[in-house]
This record gives sequence, C-alpha cells and structure tokens, in this order.
Amino acid sequence: MASDQHSNRRKKVRCCVVGGGPAGMMLGYLLGRAGIEVVVLEKHGDFFRDFRGDTVHPSTLEVMDELGLIDGFLKLPHQRLQKMDGLFGGTPVRIADLSRLHTKYPFIAFMPQWDFLNFLREAGRRFASLEVMMSTEAVDLIRRGETIAGVRAKTPDGIIDIEADLTIACDGRHSTLRERAGLAVEEIGAPMDVLWFRAGRQPDETESVFARVEPGKMMITFDRGDYWQCAYVIAKGQHETVKARGLQALLDDVVRMAPILRSGIAEVKSFGDVKLLTVAINRLARWTRPGLLCIGDAAHAMSPIGGVGVNLAVQDAVATANLLADKMQHGCPSEHDLDAVRRRREFPVKMTQRMQVIVQNKIISGALKGGDRPLKVSLIVRLITALPWLQGIPARLLALGVRPEHVHSKAAPAS
Ligand SMILES: Cc1cc2nc3c(=O)[nH]c(=O)nc-3n(C[C@H](O)[C@H](O)[C@H](O)COP(=O)(O)OP(=O)(O)OC[C@H]3O[C@@H](n4cnc5c(N)ncnc54)[C@H](O)[C@@H]3O)c2cc1C
Repeated sequence: MASDQHSNRRKKVRCCVVGGGPAGMMLGYLLGRAGIEVVVLEKHGDFFRDFRGDTVHPSTLEVMDELGLIDGFLKLPHQRLQKMDGLFGGTPVRIADLSRLHTKYPFIAFMPQWDFLNFLREAGRRFASLEVMMSTEAVDLIRRGETIAGVRAKTPDGIIDIEADLTIACDGRHSTLRERAGLAVEEIGAPMDVLWFRAGRQPDETESVFARVEPGKMMITFDRGDYWQCAYVIAKGQHETVKARGLQALLDDVVRMAPILRSGIAEVKSFGDVKLLTVAINRLARWTRPGLLCIGDAAHAMSPIGGVGVNLAVQDAVATANLLADKMQHGCPSEHDLDAVRRRREFPVKMTQRMQVIVQNKIISGALKGGDRPLKVSLIVRLITALPWLQGIPARLLALGVRPEHVHSKAAPAS
C-alpha cells in the first residue's frame, strides 16, 4: 500500500476508471455496456464546470450513433457549426467547411460539456455493472508488489480503498495517477494560456465569426444561447501583466475585437469573473504499468487548437473498450495487452499534436508577439479561403481526425 493513512472502507471491482471527463464517462459507459463491473470516480460533485471543451465533432457523433444514443443526444440544446469563419487582422477567412464531408453528421455540435457528460451518465444507469461515484477523488495508488491494484480515494464520508484488477487513469492533464505511477511526461510546450469568461447575449445577437486574430491578440467566442462564452488568448506567463493593466483595459480590447459583446461584457465585473486556463501539450512515452493504463489527457494533454481534445479522449475510450473489454472478462489484461491501446492511439495523437504545434508556431506565436506591423494572412489560409474545395481538407482533419475509431466492443445480453 502506498499510503499508511487509516482506511476502513473497501470495495472490489474488475475495473476502476479515475476521472469523469469525456474519456472516463465514455469508457465507463462502454465497459458497463459490455457487462464488466466498473466504477468511475469523479472528484467533483457534478459536471457543471466552465473550463471544459464544448465541441462534439462528427467522429464522436458517429460513436453516439453506433451506440444507439444519437437521437436522444441531438435533442439536447446545441448549436450546429458547418462553416468555420474567422477574422485575421480584419480580413475574413474561412478555415473549414464541414458540409463538404461524406459523413452522416457533417457538423460540429456545440453543447455545454456538462450536458454531454450528464447524458452519458443517465444513459449508463441501465447497466447494472456500472457505478459512477461523484465527489470521490483518487489520492493514491494501491500497489501489490510491482502491480497497481486499485486506488485509495477521498469521499465526503472518508477514505475508501477501491481494489481493482485494472485501474484506468482518465484524470486529465494534471493526472495524479500518472504522477504517482512515476510515468515520465514529455513536455512539448504551448506558447499561450486562455482567459475564460462569459458575456451576456441578447436573443437577437448572432454572428458567424468565431475566431478573431489581431496583432498581439486572439479571441474565440462560443454562442451558448443565453450568453457568449469567450476565450481570450494571452501569451504564456502574461496573466499578471494583463491584470496589472487593469480590467477595463482588457474589456476594451475584447469589445474592440468583438463589438457584438459591447453590452454583454458588463457581466464581467472583476478579475474574479475571468478564469485563467493553462494550456499544455505533452504526452507519455509509456501509457501503462502492470494493472494501470492512462488514456485521454492523462496520457497526452491536448491544446484547445482545433477543439479536438474531447473527441480524442472519446476515441481513446472507444479503442480501449474495443481492445480490452473481452480480455477484461477474465481479469486484468497483461501489460503487453494494455499497451495495445498506446500502439493503436499513439499515431493519431502524435499527428494531431504535430498539427497543433504547427498552428501555434506559425500563427499563434506570431500573432501574440504583437507589434505595429499588420498581420499577414498566411498563403495556405488564403488558398483555403479562395478555393472552397480545399476547405474539405481541414474539415476532414477537424471532424473525423486521424484514424477514427468505431465501436466494436460487444454489448452484454440484457439481463
Ligand atoms: C483552455 C482549454 C480549452 C479547451 N477547449 C476545448 C474544446 O473546445 N474542444 C475540445 O475538444 N477540447 C478542448 N480542450 C482540450 C480538452 O479539454 C481535453 O483534451 C479533454 O477534456 C480531455 O478529456 P479527458 O476526459 O481526458 O480529461 P478531462 O476533461 O480533463 O477530465 C478529467 C476528469 O477527471 C477528474 N479528476 C481529476 N483528477 C481526479 C482524481 N484524482 N480523482 C477523481 N477525478 C479526478 C476531473 O475533475 C475531470 O472531470 C481545451 C483545453 C484547454 C486547456
């Protein structure tokens, strides 16, 4: 046992999934559907947090379709985005057009992530072998020799030891489990952080532009129905400088870039309403230890560029269930079998991170440096804007990603 803190509650399951984000909730659903005894631990009491990606891409919509969940899912309030338009130094550009894709769902569904996660939680209630434990934070690993044998967790009622044949870390980019397991992280680095805040929205306020880039400044706005969710990108390490300039200076910049926020910005009353989200790109060389597997951001933190991180996390979960669900019926798969997930998913992860690094080096770093020189729209962006048939290429990468996963894991017969 890694910790000697007194623990008097115990539970034994086949699989313990730590983290109720997109990776953990989708994996819990898939393993519950396969009839595997699984518990998902989420440290928060609910999913209502602001700092989650809200983009459900066609790859995830196809998975929801394959699971027979799509009709109910698309009944939840959401906005559909097909054409991604931006303003680059005042020049309109079109980044991608999803209507050109041959997929059943050629759009990105913008939906608050808490609705997506709550939906998966509700849909999973019919599986007797799945339990979701909210307000339960994994604080340590349980070890038996070299093997990880579960986690010790903190709950409102005290400490509980959850013994598991297999523990799967889906606890995000600040993963406690990967740190406790001593898995080395390769930092790739990101030049920016994000200030995240809400501005009020009137029912008649609409705008197709969602990304704006000016010298020294970048901003993205998401229409969330009764408010605008704003992501204002700053150079890494500049948070204190922004604060020193004062709130009004920040809000003036925001409104200058996005005049549609002029009245709604009054809802930002102090820096307490503006959250700093740190951006990271990194990945593990090794995703496993005996008895432990890391997936999603815990294995490879994604930058917000392209809004693909949620969808990659879902794809990891689908691949994990495809590769391991059958084997888990009989106990813990060998480390070689667990590593099949990395062998399957590492290529898409590396390709996607490489594209994110290219965008951050070629576009974002330059834009955030500022200066008086007007921004030049890069040749590739000009070509994509001018030649509509080219808009299908970034659309395909964004929408379906590299090597999309499909559900092959079996559903257990209904009891
Ligand atoms: C600023 C920013 C904006 C982004 N915007 C987008 C976007 O628009 N679209 C997109 O697709 N991606 C976006 N991303 C990337 C995306 O957020 C991640 O790639 C994605 O959330 C990864 O999913 P996950 O399930 O692996 O981890 P997470 O979503 O981080 O979920 C991890 C979960 O584990 C829980 N947890 C953590 N530690 C413990 C513990 N010890 N015990 C129990 N529970 C624990 C957390 O509370 C959380 O619920 C953004 C990233 C950043 C930084």
